[in-house]
Amino acid sequence: AKSQQRAGHFYFSRSMGVEIRERVRMMHALRTAFGQNQLFVVYQPQIDLATRRPMGAEALLRWQTPDGKFISPDRFIPIAEYSGLIIDLGAWVMRTACQELVDLRKAGHLDFMMSINVSQVQFRHPHFLETLRKALEETGAPPEYVELEITESMAMEEPDMLIKMLGQIKQTGVSIAIDDFGTGFSSLSYLQRLQIDRLKIDRAFVTEITGSARGSSIAEMVIQLGRNLGLAVIAEGVEDERQAQILQALGCPLAQGFLFARPMTATALNGWLNNDTLE
Ligand code: C2E
Ligand code: CA
Ligand code: CA
Ligand code: CA
Repeated sequence: AKSQQRAGHFYFSRSMGVEIRERVRMMHALRTAFGQNQLFVVYQPQIDLATRRPMGAEALLRWQTPDGKFISPDRFIPIAEYSGLIIDLGAWVMRTACQELVDLRKAGHLDFMMSINVSQVQFRHPHFLETLRKALEETGAPPEYVELEITESMAMEEPDMLIKMLGQIKQTGVSIAIDDFGTGFSSLSYLQRLQIDRLKIDRAFVTEITGSARGSSIAEMVIQLGRNLGLAVIAEGVEDERQAQILQALGCPLAQGFLFARPMTATALNGWLNNDTLE
């Protein structure tokens, strides 16, 4: 039994070594990739469920390696956070998305919102506000058309710090959405104290919506909560028409998902929006 334990221990630490080595390898690769412009931003339209018209887009980061492979942000964002690279990377995404917003406005899309994901590592950084202000100023992006998405898990930590930060962010004129809403446990009284503008229903609850009668209960609750608190609500990960119809019937005004459009490059978004306007 003793030798088995030792063997087990040996195996465990070796696999951990492999994992750490893999993480370090990816960290270097990511840094190189960022320096060599292998990273780019794509945009996924957000639409009004009643009119089916595009109202804005969410900026999403992509990494394509020189051999053509895509690495998912679910894999590399945690590494960027862990290594600190997310500070520069996040600032670059913010600036790129703001510039795209300005370009879209020049092309005549004046009522279009740009949503930008913000990692908690960025958010906690002492220069976060300055980075935000600079991105707005240097691109000329109108703050009232920029939204930052923070996750619900982030909203639950350090309430006082968050409340203060959100107040300062609001002063720049940008709005704030809580992403992946429904996955955490923020209380109603806490939510009321946060200066937020929008709740984003997590895809998991949108997927459940067509299952059983109980399946739609969380989406329904979030929509109701939004109404009670005077917040906009958007559903993410809408993949089929039935989900869209149920959400609309429940009173959800906005949605995002493969049913309407996949994330696309800036060039593709321009084309997509022009086609949509011509219809
Ligand atoms: P998220 O913020 O929840 O983004 C939504 C994810 O759902 C995106 O995955 C999007 O491509 C995907 N999605 C959209 N519609 C559908 C649908 O109908 N069905 C399905 N199955 N998926 C859909 P993506 O682009 O792979 O991003 C994954 C996560 O990586 C994001 O989740 C976000 O947490 C993070 N991420 C991406 N870009 C950034 C960024 O610029 N900064 C930060 N901090 N995080 C980012
Ligand atoms: Ca998001
Ligand atoms: Ca989300
Ligand atoms: Ca999600």
